[in-house]
Amino acid sequence: MRRRGGHFCIAPGCSNEFYRAKDEGKSVRFHSFPFKRQAVLRRWLAALKRERSSVRRGARVCSEHFVNEDYVGERVIESGALVVRRTKKLKTEAAPSVFDFSSPKVGCSTRPAQTFMNTKSHLQ
Ligand SMILES: [Zn+2]
Repeated sequence: MRRRGGHFCIAPGCSNEFYRAKDEGKSVRFHSFPFKRQAVLRRWLAALKRERSSVRRGARVCSEHFVNEDYVGERVIESGALVVRRTKKLKTEAAPSVFDFSSPKVGCSTRPAQTFMNTKSHLQ
C-alpha cells in the first residue's frame, strides 16, 4: 500500500516517498546507495543501522538526511558576485548524517524501534 512505484526513503524515522513528497510540494531528492564505493557504502549502512543484505537496489535515502556540505557546490556568478550554490549532486564521499530518531513511529518498519542512545540531537 505504501509503494506506488516511486522511490522511498529507508532512513529510520523518515517516511518520505517520491509521490508523497511531490504531493506535498516538497523538494526532496532521493539518493541511491553508493554500491560501487565500498568505503562510502559502509558509512551509509552504519549511519542507517542497516545490514547490507537488507538494502535493496532500489532503496533510497532522501536529501533530508544530508547537510549542505554533503552536496557539490557550484561556483556561479550571480549579479556580478561569485556565489557557491548547492547543487543536487552529492559529493562522492558524502554519507547521510541527519536523522530524527525521536519519532515514536519508524516508517513502515515492522521491527521494534531500537534504542538510539548516542545519536546527536539536531536542532530543528
Ligand atoms: Zn528520508
